[in-house]
Amino acid sequence: AKAHQRASHSYFTLDMGVEIRERVRMMHALRAAFENERLFVVYQPQVDMRTTTPVGAEALLRWKNEEGQFVPPDQFIPIAEYSGLIVDIGEWVLRSACFELQHLHQLGYTDFKMAVNVSQAQFSHPQFLQSLERALVETKAPANCLELEITESMAMNDPEMLIKTLLHIKQFGVQISIDDFGTGFSSLSHLQRLNVDKLKIDRAFVNEINDKSGEGSIAKMIVQLSQSLNIKVIAEGVETKLQADTLMSFGCHLAQGYLYARPQTQLDLRAWLAQEPGQ
Ligand code: C2E
Ligand code: CA
Ligand code: CA
Ligand code: CA
Repeated sequence: AKAHQRASHSYFTLDMGVEIRERVRMMHALRAAFENERLFVVYQPQVDMRTTTPVGAEALLRWKNEEGQFVPPDQFIPIAEYSGLIVDIGEWVLRSACFELQHLHQLGYTDFKMAVNVSQAQFSHPQFLQSLERALVETKAPANCLELEITESMAMNDPEMLIKTLLHIKQFGVQISIDDFGTGFSSLSHLQRLNVDKLKIDRAFVNEINDKSGEGSIAKMIVQLSQSLNIKVIAEGVETKLQADTLMSFGCHLAQGYLYARPQTQLDLRAWLAQEPGQ
């Protein structure tokens, strides 16, 4: 038993070593990919479910590694955050998204919104507001059609800092939405003070709407909350007609999900928009 214990202990440390080495390896590969322009941004459309009219898109980062395989964002974003790479990469995503937003407006999609994910490390970086302003000025993107997606946990870490930063962002006219809403633990009083424009219902709660068990009681509650706070609401990960119909019956009309469209390159997005009913 003693030998077994020692053995499993050493396996444990071995695994830890492997994991750390793997993370460091990935961090170097990610930095190289960024420097060699092997990262790209895809755009997932957002629609009004009542008419399936496109209303906007979310910019999502993609990484195709040397072997030609896609590394899932859930794997490399945490590494980008942990290493600080997310500050430069995130700024580049923001500029790319602003550029595309401006382009779509020029093509005549003048109400089209662009949502961009922003990590804590970017947000709390002293240069963030400047880089946001620069992205808007240099791309000439319409600020009021840009939405930054932040998470609830950011409200918990340092609410005072967040409130100050959000005030500045609002002065640019940029909108704020809370991503994955309901999965964090931010207090409702924070939510009101943050003065956000939109809540995004996490895919997990949309998933609960299915013919096996769920009625989507949490999704319903989030829609009601948004109504009583008078802020917009969108559901993510909508895959079935049942989910769409149920969400609409709750009063949620905006959605993003495979039922409507997958994340796609900017050229595919433009082609997709061209064959959709006009806005
Ligand atoms: P997220 O912000 O919650 O993004 C939504 C995710 O749901 C995306 O995964 C999208 O492809 C996926 N999705 C959308 N509709 C459906 C659906 O109907 N079914 C299913 N099964 N999935 C759906 P993705 O692109 O793999 O991104 C994962 C996460 O990585 C994102 O979650 C976000 O937290 C992070 N991420 C992606 N791009 C960026 C970025 O540029 N910056 C930062 N900071 N984070 C990013
Ligand atoms: Ca998001
Ligand atoms: Ca989300
Ligand atoms: Ca999510």
